[in-house]
Amino acid sequence: MTTGRLPVIISPMRPFEHAALECPGCHERLDASRNLTGAKAPAPGDFTVCVYCRTILVFGTTGLCVASERDFEQVSSEQRARLRRIQEAIREARRDYQ
Ligand SMILES: [Zn+2]
Repeated sequence: MTTGRLPVIISPMRPFEHAALECPGCHERLDASRNLTGAKAPAPGDFTVCVYCRTILVFGTTGLCVASERDFEQVSSEQRARLRRIQEAIREARRDYQ
């Protein structure tokens, strides 16, 4: 399990800080997200990728859930490919960090 915060270099946009939410994949605390499509706060139904374990997550009304096949069916193949690129960018960033 990782301790401490990792630098996030996926996007030059400033992170949007929010209440701490637990990643259901690794149980790390996530308290900031970057919106790659605008400056708005994350909303229920928005996707995110855990910077610690790279699990693709979906914001719910009370927390984060692991994205399901049904969730993936709601987004375009282009958006799914983008999520995979973000996972790869996190993998690369973590490798550089270690
Ligand atoms: Zn995680």
